[in-house]
Amino acid sequence: MSHMRIDLHVHSSASDGTDAPAALMRLAGRVGLDVVALTDHDTTAGWAEAAAAVPPGLTLLPSIEISARWRPGPGTAIGLHLLAYLPDPGDEGLSGALDRVRRNRSTRAQRMVDLLRAGGIDVTWDEVLQDAAGAPVGRPHLAQALIRRGLVDTVSEAFAPQWLGRRYRLPKDDLEVFEALRLIRGAGGVPVFAHPLAHRRGRVVPDSVIAEMAAAGLAGLEADHPDHGPAERAHARTLAAELGLFVTGASDYHGSNKPTGIAVETTTPASYERILTLATGSTPVVAQDRAG
Ligand code: AMP
Ligand code: FE
Ligand code: FE
Ligand code: ZN
Repeated sequence: MSHMRIDLHVHSSASDGTDAPAALMRLAGRVGLDVVALTDHDTTAGWAEAAAAVPPGLTLLPSIEISARWRPGPGTAIGLHLLAYLPDPGDEGLSGALDRVRRNRSTRAQRMVDLLRAGGIDVTWDEVLQDAAGAPVGRPHLAQALIRRGLVDTVSEAFAPQWLGRRYRLPKDDLEVFEALRLIRGAGGVPVFAHPLAHRRGRVVPDSVIAEMAAAGLAGLEADHPDHGPAERAHARTLAAELGLFVTGASDYHGSNKPTGIAVETTTPASYERILTLATGSTPVVAQDRAG
């Protein structure tokens, strides 16, 4: 199957994407994907709706993008995202940790609303909650409130330094990266470092930390990502080869919250097979037989 098209990183409205999980599965089928991984931030809440809507010919990998951090020293932290493919959603260690991360997100977003209000910007926590509709709250939800106020035109503009990019940004209290790796492996999931070299999002961890992560069970690096230029992609491939990791490619599609289209980056069948071989937490989902 050398023509398989595999996108291993997309978001639904269960986190900060704009397409409902079912609509996202229909879109994945329509654009001709063979495999799609639903990787909402810190939640498995979209899995059931997505699984029930997988069209014929599409395989869904129920997955998560987990918010983590690494501390270069006291008082500072570098945020990073771990994709967890096919983990067991019922694993108590993992689900308990994700609960904590989601509660921390909520506290942090409320404090960001306070900060905006103190800056004379009349957004309310109520409207942000309404916009998130039960999803883990993130800056894209706050961005919608700024758009409604006419303060910015797009979500991307809301990430400028004078808004949510720096001035009104607060740190997130996320999982320590080695704890996150242990939890993902413990839940039978396959950990892949999402956009590991995306400098334009902020500081990235040094290669030595990626080597430590590999020793702690990291399985792959997302090399082909819209936030990676040619140099980052090449470096990710070199690092992966040195460390015995596989590489993936994915769109990180977020619906209309980001300009990137679904399936603009893809993963090779060989890396996909590695994920299937390593995963023990849950199984891929194919179209249910609705005829009987
Ligand atoms: P948070 O998790 O609350 O810190 O928000 C980070 C999320 O915002 C990421 O998962 C992306 O979906 C989104 N994001 C980050 N940077 C940008 C940007 N420049 N434009 C649009 N969305 C962004
Ligand atoms: Fe996101
Ligand atoms: Fe991410
Ligand atoms: Zn993502």
